[in-house]
Amino acid sequence: MRGSWVIGLLVLSIGWSIPCAAQQAAPTPAPGPQRIHGIYMNGCIAGANVLPTEGTGYEAIRVSRNRHWGHDTLIRFVQSFGQRVHAQGLPHVYIGDLSQPRGGRMSYGHASHQVGLDADIWFVQTKRPRLAPAQRENPELRSLVLPGEVGIDESVWLPNHATLLRTAASFPEVDRIFVNKVIKRRLCDTETGDRAWLRKIVPWFYHDEHFHVRLYCPPGDRGCVAQAPVPAGDGCGKTLDDWFALPDPRSQPAPPPSALAPAKPPAACGAVFAAP
Ligand SMILES: [Zn+2]
Repeated sequence: MRGSWVIGLLVLSIGWSIPCAAQQAAPTPAPGPQRIHGIYMNGCIAGANVLPTEGTGYEAIRVSRNRHWGHDTLIRFVQSFGQRVHAQGLPHVYIGDLSQPRGGRMSYGHASHQVGLDADIWFVQTKRPRLAPAQRENPELRSLVLPGEVGIDESVWLPNHATLLRTAASFPEVDRIFVNKVIKRRLCDTETGDRAWLRKIVPWFYHDEHFHVRLYCPPGDRGCVAQAPVPAGDGCGKTLDDWFALPDPRSQPAPPPSALAPAKPPAACGAVFAAP
């Protein structure tokens, strides 16, 4: 029972690679006013903009994937986040996937990131030189979590990592941030003072090398479907304990192909995907 619940969550949200299920992604955004249709796990965006490949406090990685597109609120968030990282004297961060030029389901890697409001930010905080985009295709990215998810890898963990998460959570446009349960537990055990921001830090499978920032639907965009709010409280205690009782999804049998079939996109996405 529990295993099927795990599979359901993975299919619904982020995990299992879905081989070649998506239509070929258009290489450019759909024209027209910026508008979102659908929800993070099933939707699209028209009029998306692209994140510059580098800026104060950040560098985009794997630029060849062409997945650094998003809603203006997301582009602005990443740039502002980079500036705050820099202002705190932290090494620049690597920015992974945002969305495809028109959003939609990706051919591998994510089930969400479909509406231009999700961004993957890598935890790497070693001091390192800035690189040309072509040299950022395959950077070395270490997990903060020990194998078997038995605890934090103290040889990798830095106070900077908590600072990155606290900084990201402080942006009012951030809805939630997905991290590995072990990282959430570290924050629960060590953060003092104002812990209200911990509510936004949500445990999820994997997410031990990077964290995943999700923004709220932009005000006034009526096609964007909000996700149920994160429950009140800091999310420590029983909610988190339950995550540690779940089986590792990698130990579960692969879900049947029918469970991996992508949901039909919202009707409005047909025009977005088909636009010249
Ligand atoms: Zn992600």
